[in-house]
Amino acid sequence: MARTPYIAGNWKMHLTKRKASALARDVASQQGQASHRKVAVFPTFVHLDHVRRNLKGSNVILGAQNCFGKKEGAFTGEISPYMLRDMGVKVVLIGHSERRHVFGESEAMLFDKVKIALRAKLDVMLCVGETLEEREGGQTFKVLARQLKALKVVKPTQIDRVSVAYEPVWAIGTGKTATPTMAQEAHAECRRQIAGILGEQAAATIPILYGGSVKAANAADLLAQTDVDGALVGGASLSIDDFGPILDAAQH
Ligand code: PEP
Repeated sequence: MARTPYIAGNWKMHLTKRKASALARDVASQQGQASHRKVAVFPTFVHLDHVRRNLKGSNVILGAQNCFGKKEGAFTGEISPYMLRDMGVKVVLIGHSERRHVFGESEAMLFDKVKIALRAKLDVMLCVGETLEEREGGQTFKVLARQLKALKVVKPTQIDRVSVAYEPVWAIGTGKTATPTMAQEAHAECRRQIAGILGEQAAATIPILYGGSVKAANAADLLAQTDVDGALVGGASLSIDDFGPILDAAQH
């Protein structure tokens, strides 16, 4: 089954309001209304509105990097997926490794986040991936199976709003990339696990993006793998000179 290539830029805690707006304009003008690939950008919360305005006229999808697992309440400093939706956000990253490892987000919290984000009508990009220790200990597939269990909360009618990003923790921001063969192996396992949780049809349609030091020089080889449907790009998404060629690498 053909899955539309999906390229996403995670801007993390970078850029100023002015630079984020300018980058949004650059991405919007490169993407325009192209339909042969999906493109999303994930600015920091406080830049969402500026970026939204600068994406106008393009089909670039506005994403948020995180959300809280409740609709509303006394949760100082947190942001509800309903608030994100109200701001024009369409997709939210859930379970990015920095959330799991730097901020200690548990599997239980991530279950809640996936459930409530989908209920708020946001698309969800669930991030999964093993640490170096887990890979070296032969635990990669076990870790992926455990993390993908968050998809158990997805209802059949919500499947088309879900994507998965496989991001080996040891490859994020380190300059070390999984080889295309390693990426393909992990992606095929993710698809097998998704089939077990949501069925074969869902597994065939849910896009699985690769993340971890993706750059212009390695994007095409990674994207050429059968089960690699796109890329979640961190560092190389912060300038159009780096991100533009990655967008160009995303062909059907
Ligand atoms: C990420 O933050 O999701 C990521 C993959 O970062 P980088 O491309 O910088 O490794």
